[in-house]
Amino acid sequence: MRLTILGTGTARPVGDTPQSGVLVEAGETKVLFDIGSGVASQVEARMNAADLAGLLVGHFHADHWIDIGPLRYRFPWAEPAPRPLPVFLPPGGREKLNHLAAAINERPGFFEPAFAITEYETDMRIEIGGFVIVPHAVGHYVPAWSMDITGPDGERVVYAGDMGPSEMVVDLARGAELLILEATLENGAFDDARRGHLDTGEAIDHVRRAGVPQGLLVHYHSERRAAIAAQCAASGVPVQPAVTGMEVEVERGRVRIAGRPAGYETVRTG
Ligand SMILES: [Zn+2]
Ligand SMILES: [Zn+2]
Repeated sequence: MRLTILGTGTARPVGDTPQSGVLVEAGETKVLFDIGSGVASQVEARMNAADLAGLLVGHFHADHWIDIGPLRYRFPWAEPAPRPLPVFLPPGGREKLNHLAAAINERPGFFEPAFAITEYETDMRIEIGGFVIVPHAVGHYVPAWSMDITGPDGERVVYAGDMGPSEMVVDLARGAELLILEATLENGAFDDARRGHLDTGEAIDHVRRAGVPQGLLVHYHSERRAAIAAQCAASGVPVQPAVTGMEVEVERGRVRIAGRPAGYETVRTG
């Protein structure tokens, strides 16, 4: 499978990257994970967003799903879409979409003609094209799910999403090719008592313990990119901060960073 990182930002808007979004492809099947602010445009820059085979949202914080509003306008306004987009939301998702429709002055049920909505639950097996995707609940400030994504050849990516330290995710990622983690905090010691995010050291440690061939860090403050890259390089663990536009090829037992956009500095260490 092939991944394109569409955003690495946190909830705070910045000029150099959208918020959360990862496009995952195998053959003709393209599936989007999370659609934070700025991500709908990133999708549209690469493809006709109406050709997505599926959209999965890991939790209902704005930086992971607010662009589902703009995405809706890619489909016919009133009549049913020729091919409704399968949208997989956490429990309560239909009601949340109706609240969002009201908030943007659209009619109740505004999202229904465009989207085929499923409210998923932990351990549900979701099949899209050659992909099998299983959500797993993680600890965050609100209910949140990590996504275990298996491609057509058995290659596997764990997209963890927002979460505090998680033994479950370390266990889940064992045997996977790629683990994508957040690295939101400068120092996890200042997080809430009930943890909801990781700092860079914690994220690196999750990658090390999972033993995956490659880890990528997302959901970080852009001004910390160089410091995060240096910390990754010094760790000896195969992990680095992702950047928006980065392309990653994942095969059984092998991960290749296939493309990296220009303009991101190389970090020297040692
Ligand atoms: Zn969140
Ligand atoms: Zn977030």
